Amino acid sequence: MADFMIVLSGLSIEEIEKLTEELHASKFRAKQIHNWIYTKSVSSIDEMTDLSKDFRENLKNIAVVTDTKIKVKQVSSDGTIKYLIEYPDGECVETVLMRFDNRANLTACVSSQVGCAVNCSFCATGKRGFIRNLTYTEIIEQVLTIQRDTGLKVTNIVFMGQGEPLLNLENVLKALKIFNNDFQIGARRITISTSGIIPKIDELAESELQSTLAISLHAPNHKLRAELMPIENKYPINNLKEHLLNYINKTGRRITVEYILINGFNDTTDCAKELAMYLNDIKCNINLIPYNNVNDTKYKKSSNTNIMKFKYLLEQSGKKVTVRLERGADIDAACGQLRGKVSNN
Ligand code: SAH
Ligand code: SF4
Repeated sequence: MADFMIVLSGLSIEEIEKLTEELHASKFRAKQIHNWIYTKSVSSIDEMTDLSKDFRENLKNIAVVTDTKIKVKQVSSDGTIKYLIEYPDGECVETVLMRFDNRANLTACVSSQVGCAVNCSFCATGKRGFIRNLTYTEIIEQVLTIQRDTGLKVTNIVFMGQGEPLLNLENVLKALKIFNNDFQIGARRITISTSGIIPKIDELAESELQSTLAISLHAPNHKLRAELMPIENKYPINNLKEHLLNYINKTGRRITVEYILINGFNDTTDCAKELAMYLNDIKCNINLIPYNNVNDTKYKKSSNTNIMKFKYLLEQSGKKVTVRLERGADIDAACGQLRGKVSNN
């Protein structure tokens, strides 16, 4: 075996063609390999059964399908699966597969960084601090891991795992391109969620991306938001608005506003009214997220009555409002519960 092995997952068709050329094989072989990687999601070169045995042996001397491992896999009673994935340097992230009642939709919740520097007070990832960015191959590997393990094809992707995707935008955009071109997952089926990194929202507005932008607002004013999210001091909610309007204007796309509901903190009638005012001229859908429990925080989930009341008040303003279903809470796979470690320390 060579010292350095090429990792096939993450390569474009052109890159695979270069490889087959070096092995004196036709472009058609490249197409077959591409298909085995992204559509059939095999784990080894031996499984590429329409390639001759000799060719597979040659390929095995210089390449492997993947260099990542599943360290832990947990299955929730609601069918959600959480994987702890280990990269060659030993760092781990979580990725979550959610199946909704509509079985045709399989949503992968992917991580963009190991840890996160934004340090929101309600989030387990934030408590861990920032370790490093993921490369684009490490991002797409998460979806391939799911596909290899389940034999199913992921149809939707949300960047709502560990990390702040807009602080690793270069790799996130490269991963998006591979999701589009190689996995054939349409941009409109991909959502990027951000805590509100204003200059990067501007950069996204300039690109031709058709993916959905979700903004983690979580409070209707500066004072409350700053208590939850230190980033509010750098990119305040009042400045954010003009950049969201610009984004919507430039891309023509409706954004999603995410709002965690914390008991007695941001779930009052006044908060609902203030939020409706703030969002009045913003073309958006609102996604309410009942707070998921994280150790070492003082917060509690809103009561069902408050959640319904909050939803009702926002709907009065003419917006489409959904309440996010809690998925995988029994395996700590729900929003904000990802730590990227085996134990809860
Ligand atoms: N860093 C990005 C994306 C990852 S977090 C962001 O913050 O948007 C994905 C979503 O989970 C965000 O809306 C985030 O605010 C939310 N979240 C974090 N901790 C949570 C918790 N304890 N309960 C419910 N949602 C949480
Ligand atoms: Fe980072 Fe998002 Fe968690 Fe905030 S909520 S700490 S931005 S992952």
